[in-house]
Amino acid sequence: MEQLSPATQVVHAGRPLKVPDAPLNTPITMASTYVGGGEFEYGRWTNPTWTAFEEALGTLEGGHALAYSSGQAATAVLLDLVSDSTVVCGQAYSGTIGQLADLQLRERLRSKLVDITDLDEVAAAVDDDDVALLWIESPTNPGMEVADLPALIKLAHDAGVRVVVDNTFATPLLQRPLELGADIVVHSVTKFLAGHSDVTMGAVVVSDEELFKVLKGRRDLLGAIPGPFEAWLALRGLRTLALRVERASANARELASRLREAGVEVRDPGFGAMLAIVMPTAEAGEWVERRVRLWTHATSLGGVESTLERRRRWVSESPDVPEGLLRLSVGIEDVEDLWADLDQAISAKGEEISDER
Ligand SMILES: *Cc1c(COP(=O)(O)O)cnc(C)c1O
Repeated sequence: MEQLSPATQVVHAGRPLKVPDAPLNTPITMASTYVGGGEFEYGRWTNPTWTAFEEALGTLEGGHALAYSSGQAATAVLLDLVSDSTVVCGQAYSGTIGQLADLQLRERLRSKLVDITDLDEVAAAVDDDDVALLWIESPTNPGMEVADLPALIKLAHDAGVRVVVDNTFATPLLQRPLELGADIVVHSVTKFLAGHSDVTMGAVVVSDEELFKVLKGRRDLLGAIPGPFEAWLALRGLRTLALRVERASANARELASRLREAGVEVRDPGFGAMLAIVMPTAEAGEWVERRVRLWTHATSLGGVESTLERRRRWVSESPDVPEGLLRLSVGIEDVEDLWADLDQAISAKGEEISDER
């Protein structure tokens, strides 16, 4: 599998052995326990449907994967392993920041927020003796800045600090942090990997065998496991990741260029399906949310359908994010339809809005 291209791996990894009468796809195994004396034993420890998904994601990221009940569950299990030490963290998913803030409040873990695009600031922050982990998200959420992963990983390792990369936005088709030296990759499988806005699931991928065993042991103990049906749906979604990412990325670049031409402030990482636009005010952002017909105003991202959201509608969002910033998750629809809808919503700002859709 390793020598095949990612677009082939995503289709073929994690399939049953090709022997007569074997199903082509791993079936859903609904089992809380197994006949004793084998490898599986109990439903909280092993499920063949998870294993199929984990093999596929592990092959794509170049490591060993573990599936969790959500991205947040994966994050919680990871942070549970870090004790008495500062976690350094960039502009990240609000739930990640929320967990770190909660741990700090309970005096379990201190964390320092840094601008992940400022190498000097990050270098100074990881240099503190009690820092154990550097948590990177790139492109950043929702600012869409791109971090210099190789440089960050090197400066963290030089300081004896382990590196986690949340690879949710980029996907392993566009960015493979383990190959760049990162220790741990985290995913909200809920987003692009599953890709159809119908599954909540998370994953962690590591290349180190010992770390994998520790994490598997923690998952067994804490029970942060996905349902077999979720794992099956996620794997089914994953099979088309290469096509979806290719189409959504092309759409995103085209929309970014048309938006710029129309005089809209655009934040575009230059790869992947995520964009942000900055409307002048919160109200202008809300007009767009209410005016769109084809795009859906919704939180979350990474589905085949295009969605957008004014992030500051959440009190948990960082005050550094502009009030009028809309995060766009570009889907795989025809770009002309996406543009026509976005264009009418943006140019109609301030006009009367009817509530019919
Ligand atoms: C959604 C998201 C998470 C959290 O994942 P859930 O599956 O919602 O628990 C973590 N990181 C990023 C970048 C996300 O977008």
